[in-house]
Amino acid sequence: MAVVNELSNNWENDPAIGAVVVESSDINHRIKELGAEISADYVDRIPLLVGVLKGAAMFMSDLAREITRPVEFDYMSVSSYGSATRTSGVVRILKDLDGDLSDRDVIIVEDIVDSGLTLTYLRKYLAARNPRSLEVCTLLLKEGLQKTDLRLRYVGFRIPPDFVVGYGLDVNERYRNLESVHQYVGLRPK
Ligand code: 5GP
Repeated sequence: MAVVNELSNNWENDPAIGAVVVESSDINHRIKELGAEISADYVDRIPLLVGVLKGAAMFMSDLAREITRPVEFDYMSVSSYGSATRTSGVVRILKDLDGDLSDRDVIIVEDIVDSGLTLTYLRKYLAARNPRSLEVCTLLLKEGLQKTDLRLRYVGFRIPPDFVVGYGLDVNERYRNLESVHQYVGLRPK
């Protein structure tokens, strides 16, 4: 009998990995569209892409290659206090930006927005550093869970509010290299 909360070495037979939520070919296609949109919106500006580690690393590197204009990269790493699957809105900065934001056109690149609490915190934190503009590009947005209007400029896909893994998203650091986004039907980490 399969043990559902064990992390498997082979996800083809991994009972914790459920149905595909977003197919990798659809991810690739949508990223091309987002890249074209960003290229058109930043014709005479060089955006600074701020990736939120680790989940957004894969999305940011694919997105950047679809932007046909110069961009710069920076990364932040944050951890939210709360349970493994619910964030509390209190965010600890584990790695801050390397560069200055004043007069920069910043695009926060996120893997997934759930309650929006992490993003709300990050946006306030970065806005205090006087960027010229501050927009958000998220690959995934969970439908219906946000309490406030998050003003998300670029959204890849709206998905149902199930917990998902793949394409950068993990459970205990696993599953990030799945090509598609899947439902996670195993036991959640403690
Ligand atoms: P929020 O503050 O919007 O509720 O949560 C945002 C963060 O929680 C994301 O950046 C991500 O790290 C994590 N998260 C939210 N939903 C999921 C999910 O379905 N799967 C995974 N792996 N992480 C998630």
